[in-house]
Amino acid sequence: MNVDYLVVGSGITGATIARILADAGRQVLVVDRRSHLGGNVHDYAHQSGIRIHTYGPHYFRTSSEVVWKFVNKFASFYPYEAILKTYVDNCYENWPIAASYIRRMIGDNWIPDFKGTPSNFEEASLSIMPRLIYEKFVKEYTEKQWGVPATRLSHSLAKRFDVREDDEPRLKTNKYQGIPYEGYANFMNNLLQSIPIIMNFDYLRHKKFNYRR
Ligand SMILES: Cc1cc2nc3c(=O)[nH]c(=O)nc-3n(C[C@H](O)[C@H](O)[C@H](O)COP(=O)(O)OP(=O)(O)OC[C@H]3O[C@@H](n4cnc5c(N)ncnc54)[C@H](O)[C@@H]3O)c2cc1C
Repeated sequence: MNVDYLVVGSGITGATIARILADAGRQVLVVDRRSHLGGNVHDYAHQSGIRIHTYGPHYFRTSSEVVWKFVNKFASFYPYEAILKTYVDNCYENWPIAASYIRRMIGDNWIPDFKGTPSNFEEASLSIMPRLIYEKFVKEYTEKQWGVPATRLSHSLAKRFDVREDDEPRLKTNKYQGIPYEGYANFMNNLLQSIPIIMNFDYLRHKKFNYRR
């Protein structure tokens, strides 16, 4: 098989790389071990008409003009901005945590519980919030999700949340946020239009296959 580039994975990363290479005149082959395109953003229309996101809900967000223009060549997006709530002490509270909530619970002069350079997830969380808040909002779901004590998780995982000084309720504040009108599956199909793809193909099992010219 004559290809310039073999792209492993038809998720949004692989598909974007494949599209850019193909548009630059390169021979590209995409392989994916799954039976459908799109990786984790894959979706399908249920017979009820409701679109199901196979691997959990996804919406697209970026603050980059370039990225937004690029994806809009392959799909139209309806505006969507997620607001998440955490059920704590019989109430729905903002997630990420609102600083006003911490003030209500602990007082105006609250300070984080950890000082210094965090070496694990728990310390990183406590470097931005008091322990009481960490235990109510973060500790248990994190340990349930990962199946290990929070002290054994990387400090970098705590980068995915913050304490919102301005009580901003949106999960993400990117300039552009939306969901493809026709679904992610169509978006990914358009992105990979006319690029050869082999599905149900695990690269690690076929490493010795000769892809080169
Ligand atoms: C529940 C959930 C919700 C999420 N929500 C959002 C969201 O709202 N917005 C957002 O931006 N991100 C979200 N994410 C993250 C999101 O899934 C990723 O940003 C995005 O889908 C990653 O795309 P990717 O192409 O890098 O990886 P993937 O989508 O994982 O694609 C990788 C592909 O490579 C294939 N592959 C892997 N190994 C091989 C191999 N050896 N041989 C062949 N093929 C292989 C896989 O089958 C897969 O199709 C969410 C993730 C989860 C789990």
